[in-house]
Amino acid sequence: MSELLLMWDVLLLGTPLAVVAWLLVVWRGEHAVDRVPVLCYHRLTSQADLDSGKIVDDEPVWTVLDTTFAAQLDYLKNNGFETLDLDEVLAIQRGERPAPAKGVVITFDDGYESVLRLGAPLLAARGQRAVVYALLEPDSYTNGQVAGIDRICTPDEILAMQAHGLQIGSHSMTHAILTTLSADKLRWEVEASKAQLSALCGREINHFCIPRGGVSRAVVDAVRDAGYLTCSGRAKGTARLASDWLTLPRIAVERHHTPAAFGKLLQPRHSFVHKVLGDLRLIPTRLFGATWGRKLRSLLYGPGLSWLFAPRNVKRLLVLGAVLYGVALVELVARRLG
Ligand SMILES: [Zn+2]
Repeated sequence: MSELLLMWDVLLLGTPLAVVAWLLVVWRGEHAVDRVPVLCYHRLTSQADLDSGKIVDDEPVWTVLDTTFAAQLDYLKNNGFETLDLDEVLAIQRGERPAPAKGVVITFDDGYESVLRLGAPLLAARGQRAVVYALLEPDSYTNGQVAGIDRICTPDEILAMQAHGLQIGSHSMTHAILTTLSADKLRWEVEASKAQLSALCGREINHFCIPRGGVSRAVVDAVRDAGYLTCSGRAKGTARLASDWLTLPRIAVERHHTPAAFGKLLQPRHSFVHKVLGDLRLIPTRLFGATWGRKLRSLLYGPGLSWLFAPRNVKRLLVLGAVLYGVALVELVARRLG
């Protein structure tokens, strides 16, 4: 019994120390001087088409209105942010190019036609750069997700995006969850997309984005072995020049991000919260592996319980946890003294 109590005491005193140490490390990382936020977008939706009733789009998260995107690009320009592509970031890392006072990378996952039609002209008009992680053979699930509202670009359209100055990266061949594949199939997704996109674009494709959260050590190893220089997946937070760019963290931009909210996303204080929440969400995967982690995550963070993880409720949970911890600590002291 007394051994159990001792273990409980160690846990009671050790856990908060470990949590505080982790928070300090994250806080320091988010406030580093060499930070380069990498923004993650998916689709764009035309405000005019929406207003005229030409399209109905009630997708709440994975798209941003073109008018909002334009305002966000203006925000970047007016606040001294220089948009970089991933080759430019690597050149800065190698010391071949001076680092801008404020660098930022804009990335689009999946390569939607809306990005070519609505996004590319807005970027070109402002002389801003972006990266598109493209798919050559999107599976039926991926096509079905946007049926009637958008579609994945054809190879010709991928070339057109490159001609508009967008940097093309790979998002695998089919958009499969890579952690569920055999080693051979995984290698094909990673290597064939590099070879075929490189042949299509007439330049080496060096940047990969792991689709649909299917991240594991084996997947990142396959990406590195295929010769990619950067890889983004599901990690949240702000990248730094000194980061490992094979596990590149990003900041998700969602539909509700007005220019003011967007500005906050770029500040260390806010990206700290973004990273802490993102890391907490990955706990099931870390504990139970990719497949079970996904199942548990969709249960925990699905529509039923996602309200629990809104920042306001997370703050309330933290306060509740601190109060309970205080009570347990008082009990510990009383027990030791008594
Ligand atoms: Zn994707």
